[in-house]
Amino acid sequence: MEEFAKELGQPAFRGRQLFGWIYKGRTDFREMTNLPEVFIRSLEENARADCLKTLRRQCSKMDGTQKFLFGLPDGNAVESVFMKYKYGNSVCVSSQAGCRMHCSFCASGINGLVRNLTAGEMISQVLDIVRETGEPVNHVVIMGTGEPFDNYENVAKFLRLLNEKDGFNLGMRNITVSTCGVVPGIRRFAEEFPQVNLAISLHAPNDELRSRLMPVNQRWHMDELLAECRRYTEKTSRRITFEYSLIRGVNDREKDAAELAGRLRGMLCHVNLIPLNEVTETGYLTAGRPRALEFMKMLEERGITATVRRQLGADIDGACGQLRLNAAREQQK
Ligand code: SF4
Repeated sequence: MEEFAKELGQPAFRGRQLFGWIYKGRTDFREMTNLPEVFIRSLEENARADCLKTLRRQCSKMDGTQKFLFGLPDGNAVESVFMKYKYGNSVCVSSQAGCRMHCSFCASGINGLVRNLTAGEMISQVLDIVRETGEPVNHVVIMGTGEPFDNYENVAKFLRLLNEKDGFNLGMRNITVSTCGVVPGIRRFAEEFPQVNLAISLHAPNDELRSRLMPVNQRWHMDELLAECRRYTEKTSRRITFEYSLIRGVNDREKDAAELAGRLRGMLCHVNLIPLNEVTETGYLTAGRPRALEFMKMLEERGITATVRRQLGADIDGACGQLRLNAAREQQK
């Protein structure tokens, strides 16, 4: 921001003032009362502080979850979610428009990758949600549409911006990044962001099933992925979370739990079980919450700690990517 101010003929400290206003949620340069008129005019001619447009907002009557569909300046759209937990409020951010990982149960990957999001477009999702809800945000998870390590540079910039003390000032420990298993990304992340939480979308206990559900597994097999996860926990001393969506009759059987427990045994980890959010196009059915609780017990009996994720926003478009997909279909009609 200092460089930007200098480009517009202003001293560096004006850039810091501008940065402070943007993080207070101001998008109208005229409201930035400590900036001189000449700078405001040049900002109006050369810049915009509001890069997203709220296309849809759905609010759950059950638990306060809110889903946002944001329009980007080039006509694309991305989803973000605001969630309320006992420990505070969390925002789930998208890192790409679409996704090229093509996980077979996911709505976000159906139409492939459109483009990477910039760090500004990611931070805007958080700032716009703060502005629209009027609520503080205590935790940010990069778990929306897209594979964060497929857009590593911009995601890294976004993490640093979130942590910036003159900006959003969010602690690194209050941020979670979720990957489908891009091994070189995990290695780099452990070096550069040892304090940020890491989650791995695992969803299967063996290569045969995982490759079927998640094509990324054909590139980095489970042995390689889990070896990298072990290196991560040794380097950072941080517990890793494995996300496991339970699909009825596919990965929710007792033998799946036994195989999964065998593979994770001895690792500093935790399994987060998610009854699948059904997406009509994929044909997969959810195992449901009672089965998820049974599966959790099967893991715990084998020494693996697990929880079942609370289903939030069940009365609004549930699955990740579903809101964006539905909106795109309506536009085509
Ligand atoms: S689950 Fe994640 S990585 Fe896989 S297609 Fe969906 S958004 Fe992409």
